[in-house]
Amino acid sequence: MYVKKIKLKNFRNYDDLELDFNEKVNIFVGDNAQGKTNLLEAIYFTSIGRSFRTNKYNELVKFDRDFSRVYTEIVKKDFENTVEILSGRDSKKYIKLDGVKIRKTSELLENLHIVIFSPEDLKIVKDEPERRRKFIDRELCQISPSYYDNLGNYKKILLQRNNYLKENYIDPEILDIWDLQLSKYGKAIIAQRREFIEKINLISKEIHGKITDGKEALNIIYEPNVGENRDLYEEIKKSYSSDIRQRTTTKGPHKDDLEFFINGINVRSFGSQGQQRTAALSLKLAEISIIEEETGELPILLLDDVMSELDSTRQEFLIKSLERVQLFITNAEISDKISEKFSEKTVFLVKKGKISILDSKENHKINH
Ligand code: ATP
Ligand code: MG
Repeated sequence: MYVKKIKLKNFRNYDDLELDFNEKVNIFVGDNAQGKTNLLEAIYFTSIGRSFRTNKYNELVKFDRDFSRVYTEIVKKDFENTVEILSGRDSKKYIKLDGVKIRKTSELLENLHIVIFSPEDLKIVKDEPERRRKFIDRELCQISPSYYDNLGNYKKILLQRNNYLKENYIDPEILDIWDLQLSKYGKAIIAQRREFIEKINLISKEIHGKITDGKEALNIIYEPNVGENRDLYEEIKKSYSSDIRQRTTTKGPHKDDLEFFINGINVRSFGSQGQQRTAALSLKLAEISIIEEETGELPILLLDDVMSELDSTRQEFLIKSLERVQLFITNAEISDKISEKFSEKTVFLVKKGKISILDSKENHKINH
């Protein structure tokens, strides 16, 4: 699939923008703070109805304006469709799919699949567990609307339970109502995560092997906070007194993690920076395969400032692996050496919320 067109109104630093994309490679260059990442954010917003930078939709509205509008046209194997999202200063949002308002954001999810790759993703192995959980959640939400719903319910109940734990008097029977609900959604989340991580492990192992000429065997292991042979409900019950003492929920998938191993050695503790980056790259590329496998469509890929962070071997590998995917690449500058590697491409210049075409090579073919 690919994004054919975007229209923005009052989105971040854009007033009115209408842009046709190259169905292969779109490169955005320009100085800092001109709107490159804002444009990627807008595309991403029409994919899952959320931003990768903020949970506050009013931040997306241009300063001093009342609402923002993002509109994209998406081309798939057999049909085309459109997405439109209005967000207000009041942080409310309205989503239209093919012109019809949808009730739940999860109805949008199966429409446009996106993988985003930014310099922070290169640190996924080393960073805090929260980043790895976010990665799992983001990917699973894209391929599984039921996961999106389970996660939303789990988070809502977790918040309510944590608020209740902050009260002065705790009634065990009332707490048990939360416990039952929490363990119901929690168990579903753990099962879905386990299955997803097993898949991503197999695929990223293969990719990592190719990047390193077979010298390194990558293993990505799910580290659930409550393990396979234990019951989540029982574990939550057992942590009753420590939960009350700490006034928060101490057990459950909101504490899960991932562990990375190369040739049996823990990459977070002992891996070189290069190994950590290769593992992160393998993980990203594996994500693309999984989305294609699960949905039958290739996702689009957003590469925000990441090209210049990779050495030439990894750049080459990335470019070669992505020949079939529509790419959106931002970088302050893009060297001719990188640019030359793409035959079909449009290079755009982003300046103060306006975009112009610097160079364009398209191959007008009918079959996608
Ligand atoms: P860099 O190369 O540094 O990553 P960039 O081109 O990716 O830069 P963006 O993050 O896209 O930059 O844009 C940042 C600019 O957008 C900032 O100058 C910021 O003030 C502006 N901006 C962000 N949100 C809004 C908003 N709601 N209204 C108006 N302008 C905004
Ligand atoms: Mg940026």
